[in-house]
Amino acid sequence: MSRHLLIRYHEVALKGKNRGVFVGALATNVRKALARAGLDHPVRQERSQIRVDLPDGSDASPALNVISRVYGIARIAPVLRTGLAFDEIVDGVRETIRDEWNGAETFRVSASRADKRYPLTSADLNTQIGSLVEEETGAAVKLRGADIDLRIDVRERDAFVYVESVPGAGGLPVGSSGHVMALLSGGIDSPVAAARMFRRGCTVDFVHFHSFPLVDGSSRDKARDLVRVLDESQFGSRLHLVPFADAQRQIVAAVNPAYRVVAYRRFMVRVAEELARRVNALALVTGESIGQVASQTVENISTIDSVARMPVLRPLIGMDKQEIITEARRLGTFDISILPDEDCCSLFVPKHPILRSSIVEAERMETALDVDELVRMSADEAQMVTFGQ
Ligand code: ATP
Ligand code: MG
Repeated sequence: MSRHLLIRYHEVALKGKNRGVFVGALATNVRKALARAGLDHPVRQERSQIRVDLPDGSDASPALNVISRVYGIARIAPVLRTGLAFDEIVDGVRETIRDEWNGAETFRVSASRADKRYPLTSADLNTQIGSLVEEETGAAVKLRGADIDLRIDVRERDAFVYVESVPGAGGLPVGSSGHVMALLSGGIDSPVAAARMFRRGCTVDFVHFHSFPLVDGSSRDKARDLVRVLDESQFGSRLHLVPFADAQRQIVAAVNPAYRVVAYRRFMVRVAEELARRVNALALVTGESIGQVASQTVENISTIDSVARMPVLRPLIGMDKQEIITEARRLGTFDISILPDEDCCSLFVPKHPILRSSIVEAERMETALDVDELVRMSADEAQMVTFGQ
């Protein structure tokens, strides 16, 4: 008898060619997640699931914990693998009862056979194992809503015995969808936006703009700390730190105070796109949500987006702040985001920036600037920091 974790994914996402990429990325991420936690269990791709082999007598929970945070997983089950003989399956059932019963009062048995030539039918297995469990535990059979669903999967060469599985993190495995560039401030929202892109399988590069030495280096430190946490889903991340102070001085000289935040953002979009092109990312990601702050009106988003040539994805666009905060807490980024910092966007801006900017006005104010040159200079000055590699 041996112990394993069975990892199942949703089949819906797996059409044709996609399947190999999906399962390969998932198995790789499971391996990396285990390795990062110091667990070197073998990980195998089976026909419709991934199997992790646990050492004899080991506790499944550390591996289970790590794997439950990997995107692309529907369910995870700790299982016992037994031989096909009925007695061996019964041994597996006894051991499962010892480990997993936890005082349950009702149960059901759900057997299934991959090989229909197996001498016992699923119904036979259900009744025979069912009476054994009744005797051993005193619990009663209940077909709907039982405390425990004891599963017996009889396969071609072995059988799996296990109790109802644990939900996984869902979504798609990181690395199975396209490559994006996320604009990461030190705030609460943008890390959550990036994590949502991970959950859709994207590879994410990060860009942070800072006004050091006009301000202290705190926003850069926060960006680094945030990427370190976010990298727990990506296992290898890059953060591009862009000095914004020089460009910012020129923008301030050219642009009317009410338009400065919008002008900063238009500039950030252009530089982020330039960096995205250099690393072959195809879209930008921001943490904006409509109406959350003055710069995030539909009018301002329109003025900002008019300089973009790549899609600007805004996964939080329809969310409330409270929902975003809940997600940030779950991700472990919230406590970093709320630390005080000196953010570049609050420099040289009035208390009441424009709410309804116009593209024409923004363009007019930028005519005094050599935008292309400024963008290239900023992109060239970006410093890249790598994580988890
Ligand atoms: P956040 O909590 O992500 O900072 P916010 O609600 O404070 O968002 P803004 O400060 O208006 O909103 O920023 C909107 C978006 O612009 C951010 O979510 C982020 O994607 C991007 N952004 C803002 N400042 C920076 C920065 N210094 N570097 C990189 N991206 C930034
Ligand atoms: Mg912010």
